[in-house]
Amino acid sequence: MIDKKLSRKNFLVTAGVVGTTLVLGSSIITCKKEEKPKEQAKQEGPKCDDVSGLKPEEIEQRKNLQYTDNTPDPAKNCANCALYVAPQNNAPCGGCNLIKGPVSPNGWCTSWVPKA
Ligand code: SF4
Repeated sequence: MIDKKLSRKNFLVTAGVVGTTLVLGSSIITCKKEEKPKEQAKQEGPKCDDVSGLKPEEIEQRKNLQYTDNTPDPAKNCANCALYVAPQNNAPCGGCNLIKGPVSPNGWCTSWVPKA
């Protein structure tokens, strides 16, 4: 009889421990799942695509060099390119010594060169 009570007690304690572990474990997994999108969030720069003042050949050059406002490689962007011209007077877009028109600090093109 005593053995049965102990056995039942042991069962209840074990069930409580297992249940608590499962609840805490699933909470931790749920928290980690929520953090993942933040880690993968892509950094976006200002929109610098107003090419209205450019000549057709200047627009064509931007296209040929595949200029984009948001770099596909965070390690390579216009802000750390040797050809980048920083924005003036708190403007969101800078310039470039190679292509005409506004350039995003988070932009990129196929002519990217690292700053020395
Ligand atoms: S050369 Fe390309 S990557 Fe470098 S600043 Fe100009 S547009 Fe950006």
